[in-house]
Amino acid sequence: LVRLRQRLAGSQSGLGRGLLALLSRDRLDEDTWESIEDTLLTADVGVAPTQELVDRLRTRLRVEGGEDPRTVLREELLTLVDGGMDRRLQVSGADGKPGVVLVVGVNGSGKTTTVGKLSRILVAEDHTVVLGAADTFRAAAVEQLATWGERVGVDVVRGPEGTDPASVAFDAVRTGVDAGVDTVIIDTAGRLQNKAGLMDELGKVKRVIEKQAPVTEVLLVLDATTGQNGLIQARVFGEVADVTGIVLTKLDGSAKGGIVVQVQRELGVPVKLVGLGEGADDLAPFEPGAFVDALLG
Ligand code: GDP
Repeated sequence: LVRLRQRLAGSQSGLGRGLLALLSRDRLDEDTWESIEDTLLTADVGVAPTQELVDRLRTRLRVEGGEDPRTVLREELLTLVDGGMDRRLQVSGADGKPGVVLVVGVNGSGKTTTVGKLSRILVAEDHTVVLGAADTFRAAAVEQLATWGERVGVDVVRGPEGTDPASVAFDAVRTGVDAGVDTVIIDTAGRLQNKAGLMDELGKVKRVIEKQAPVTEVLLVLDATTGQNGLIQARVFGEVADVTGIVLTKLDGSAKGGIVVQVQRELGVPVKLVGLGEGADDLAPFEPGAFVDALLG
């Protein structure tokens, strides 16, 4: 976790340190406030949240020689990322049935990798897990997941290429129920050509699962480097699926950690996990305090 924090700090520190340097100036004149706004916008914090933050900072730092800028900034950034949200993953079912975690998102966002990494975390926490390779439109995704399964030591349920995703999801959950595992994680197809098609497909997947076990999480995977596109994806998936949590991937390669603020507002659900690299250990729970500390360096 320390290593992950360092990596996060490395990519995001420009934002926090830049802000802190600006706020520590002797005189906070209009030029300085403008630079502060630019810094926030560049980091993808978004227009409305930036305005709110700047207003609050202005109010609190108006009195010269008053509060310490670092303390104020830390508190206000924490408020901005909504430090109080419940970010725990609900991975266990009830009445002896597994919990089902549905992982959705467009291709390339890091969905399959996230499923693999998440299974590894759960197994390390002594959960029993089955994976369902329901991204049947991308043969490579099925193979990729099978590789993760071997690596982590969990069963991967798959069908022939082009199989109906819902049928793979059904089989995976049935396998999980029969084996009495804690959690079944389903990797879904991420086609976004049209909203109605996506809604049909995810709806069907969800229905066949719920005949057997409860869907306890719908995790939306978003690539942090895609900015505005990521927000559009968040909106569409938010409309077609009951998203319960966001996984923000590729934060290691992005200085735009402010996107956390925007996606949470867009969907009204918390970022629960962050991806900080391509390696097996590079997925971590999102901790607002650690995130803000990393920003501030
Ligand atoms: P999918 O199409 O959504 O299933 O995406 P994949 O899981 O195949 O991931 C697409 C690419 O992004 C792969 O090369 C992954 O290794 C890479 N990737 C996934 N998550 C992360 C991350 O957190 N950081 C970095 N740097 N790369 C990632």
